[in-house]
Amino acid sequence: MAGYRLLFDGVLACNQTTRTPRLIANSLLMPRQSGSRPVVAPLGLRRVEAALVRGGFDRDEVAVEPADRLGDVVGRDTRVIGLTVGDPIGRGMSSTTVRAILGGRPLTARAHRDLLRQIARATRRAGNSPTIIAGGPGAWQLEHSTPDRIDHIVAGYAEANVAEVFQATADGIDQPRVIQGRAPRAEDIPPVLGPTTMGAVETSRGCGLGCSFCSLARIPMEHLPEQTILGDIETNLAAGQPHPCLVSEDLFRYGAKGTTVRPDALIALLECLRAMDGIGMIQSDHANVLSVSQWSDEDLRAVRRLMVGRTGQTMPWLNVGIETASGELLRANGGGAKMGECHDDEWAAFASQQLCRLIEAGFFPFASVVVGLSGETAEYVRQTRQWVDTLSDEPLGIFPVLNAPTDGSQGPGRDDLAREQWELIRACYRVNFRWMPKMYDDGQRAAGVGRGRRILMQLLGRGQAALWKSLLMIRTRRADGR
Ligand code: SF4
Repeated sequence: MAGYRLLFDGVLACNQTTRTPRLIANSLLMPRQSGSRPVVAPLGLRRVEAALVRGGFDRDEVAVEPADRLGDVVGRDTRVIGLTVGDPIGRGMSSTTVRAILGGRPLTARAHRDLLRQIARATRRAGNSPTIIAGGPGAWQLEHSTPDRIDHIVAGYAEANVAEVFQATADGIDQPRVIQGRAPRAEDIPPVLGPTTMGAVETSRGCGLGCSFCSLARIPMEHLPEQTILGDIETNLAAGQPHPCLVSEDLFRYGAKGTTVRPDALIALLECLRAMDGIGMIQSDHANVLSVSQWSDEDLRAVRRLMVGRTGQTMPWLNVGIETASGELLRANGGGAKMGECHDDEWAAFASQQLCRLIEAGFFPFASVVVGLSGETAEYVRQTRQWVDTLSDEPLGIFPVLNAPTDGSQGPGRDDLAREQWELIRACYRVNFRWMPKMYDDGQRAAGVGRGRRILMQLLGRGQAALWKSLLMIRTRRADGR
């Protein structure tokens, strides 16, 4: 459980492999939490804690602790250890991509291994063997892997049955290796009882737009009630976390029925948040092109103003999934719903237009494109490359990620990529290296990160950019030789 200050801290840490020296990874990229209490824990773990308490467990029967304290808290009476997994074996899109570029093993996978070792040590010392249950956004990776030290995997949102699962496990009742979680209605999602990593607070969950490469394709979007969101933010504020991160697959769809947006709902929510005592910068993660297209310029600017407040932040970022500049390829991969009424041959221009509108409104959009979608041809890759080139003078980032199928099948790796795919990845990073350091420094400054640490991170960033540039050149040349 690292002590990240900003959402982008977490993004940076997830884009490393074991090629990053452990000292840099542990001290700069994934710093430990300071000794302060209460523990800041991943949102999923905090939801499970709240669901267990609501489901009948006493507060003192449930403990949320970082891995390095397990030795102190695991005892003879410990019946179940639950852990949350984001990318346990490094098969997510970002980590697959970063491994193809840098080599080594994703840091996310190493952190998971380390955690399992710490659990094993703690339980051995306690002379006990509690059942280990894993769940969270990366649970799908474990479902398709060979069994390790984890006894059960809970798939999907599970606040409605996680207390039953833990009670049955504690009572020694046999359960399948993969247990299907049951999601509650949005209004029954229990507010967190303690602070969350990066101040993460859900505004909506699920998406349901049907992209075949995405694990949320068939989970309809639901919006959390304002009072749950405000409660979660209050809990974080009380624990000294002033910069909440609104988690959603599409910030601009908050409160919507289907895909028809309701700007008034999000603006009203943000006005409530901005009025809270001690609130700083309001961060968020994802937005959708189709939703942006339905917002007026004025309302987009209002959202930006409310998110930034008086922090002085100038480049609030949002990740916008473009996936490919080819509407035809996107539609063939289930992306028709996110294109709305847009014809296939209009998609690239439509996506550019909405990104530029976000820029005009004062955001720093991070477009993401997927390399290696099913049915991708050299021509499709060239189209996306041209699209990237047309945007290269705009202040934005473009994240290329390798397709990582969620059904356990193998997606493309380093040796599968052709020259034009590497060229596309290089073109994206040329844009990123220009803007990312400024955007990151801007966010850190607004979050009150000290000058010394900011300078260190900029130096580290320069070193990493130089390394990435040379590796990308080597990978591109090698692709020619195959
Ligand atoms: S729009 Fe984004 S979150 Fe929704 S299904 Fe497609 S890729 Fe997944």
